[in-house]
Amino acid sequence: MAELMLGKEVNASLNEKIKANVEALKQKGVVPGLGIVRVGENPGDLSYEKGAVRKCETLGISCRRFLLPKDVSEKELLAVIEMLNNDDLIHGVLLFRPLPKHLRSSVIENALAPEKDVDCMTELSMAGVFTGKKIGFPPCTPQGCMEILDYYGVDCTGKKAVVIGRSLVVGRPAAMMLMDKNATVTICHSRTVDLPSVTREADILIVAAGQAGMIGADHVRKGQVVIDVGINVTGEGMLCGDVDYQAVEPIVSAITPVPGGAGSVTTTVLAGHVVEAAMRREESALKEK
Ligand code: NDP
Repeated sequence: MAELMLGKEVNASLNEKIKANVEALKQKGVVPGLGIVRVGENPGDLSYEKGAVRKCETLGISCRRFLLPKDVSEKELLAVIEMLNNDDLIHGVLLFRPLPKHLRSSVIENALAPEKDVDCMTELSMAGVFTGKKIGFPPCTPQGCMEILDYYGVDCTGKKAVVIGRSLVVGRPAAMMLMDKNATVTICHSRTVDLPSVTREADILIVAAGQAGMIGADHVRKGQVVIDVGINVTGEGMLCGDVDYQAVEPIVSAITPVPGGAGSVTTTVLAGHVVEAAMRREESALKEK
């Protein structure tokens, strides 16, 4: 039987650190603030927003939501971002993406002040991840995966890591972060030939393809650590991952469930970034004095 790597255990550990930092900020009269910008009513965004607001409120982070219609103009959306950039009570901004097609994503994403970019949407933050210089904040989901590996004591040094998915939101940054931890990394995608033979080579397998149950018994072997980032909804309305849990769990040595695994750590990481952004602001204000 595989060790279950549970989001709630990782979260409990992260929450302790975040709460201590929130308390330290409170002593200085600062309440960390998150601005959430949502365009339209995408069900996935609504569900993530609900979780993020609940998480922030439990940790003492204030949340303000800016809800815009799906036909919002670029000018109006840019005006909201500009307003958040100039609002001292907001330390971090979460903008749901992908944006509707009539909006130029790159113009909007890069309009955000880098110091408030708590989910790595500006090119500057992304450059931090890809150059290893750690400018700004890394994207929350792949960082959540790294937190899971750290919490469960998985040493990546010298290990073979395989990431399925090459999106800028999960796959690519996850691969960079694994490389930073000294793993030897392979990235797979929809054109990868003979995926099972590649994934069976992995010591650590991170799956972020968005294909329900695509990883089965023939993709894995004994001794592997598997993180399932996929969030899919079945015909019956149930959440499931990209890994066929029933088939894979008896074979590998550790696995995250869906729900209750990687997804639940993402909002905790986001909350941690907002608090960190508030702390960085305090530090730079002190230096300026
Ligand atoms: P994208 O659709 O942007 O990327 C999916 C990637 O998977 C692509 O690179 C694609 O390859 C690859 N892929 C798709 N099918 C296959 C296949 N059969 N074999 C190999 N590779 C394949 O998705 P995201 O990266 O945004 O998200 C991935 C998953 O993670 C989704 O289920 C999403 O819901 C979930 N997610 C969870 C989050 C959380 O936990 N909080 C946050 C963000 C995402 P190609 O590039 O060739 O098309």
